[in-house]
Amino acid sequence: MDFKEYVRNIPDFPEKGVYFKDITPLLQDAHALSAAKEALLKMLGNQKIDKVVGMESRGFFFAPMLAVDLGAGFVPVRKPGKLPFDKIRETYTLEYGEDVLEIHSDAISKGDKVLVHDDVLATGGTASAVCKLIERLGGEVVQCNFLLELQFLKGHEKLKGYTIASLMKF
Ligand code: 5GP
Repeated sequence: MDFKEYVRNIPDFPEKGVYFKDITPLLQDAHALSAAKEALLKMLGNQKIDKVVGMESRGFFFAPMLAVDLGAGFVPVRKPGKLPFDKIRETYTLEYGEDVLEIHSDAISKGDKVLVHDDVLATGGTASAVCKLIERLGGEVVQCNFLLELQFLKGHEKLKGYTIASLMKF
């Protein structure tokens, strides 16, 4: 299946000059949705996974589905102030300014094998902060997988040392 047919380009969203990749056509097509989930699982192979970590918000679409099929737990990483229990945080730099992500302190156990999932790999700032959170809690990041990667933003470089897999490359 050519998944790229299910991604549409939105100019100037969420702000002027940004060319946004909209994955909702893929989500709303029953066949593409199921095929994308299967393809994400296939990229992982037979590796054992204890937790799938998805980042707010668009990482939440597939991460719980992957977790169910892998027999793993799902862990949300969220923007500040959303998680109710004890948590740790990572601050990371954006093109303009900074952002913060949080995870519950009991979400990952020491030695957990973790799959990180998000919809898009752009500069890699988000995924790199998530990997740090997981490692601070004693988890091991087995793979970071994405629906799509914007190669010109060089997210790979920020995630050096991690295994990266993406269904589509633009
Ligand atoms: P990064 O931290 O790699 O620069 O940005 C990745 C994050 O921004 C992901 O959580 C992703 O959801 C969001 N993102 C950045 N660009 C796009 C885009 O073009 N389309 C979508 N759907 N998300 C994007």
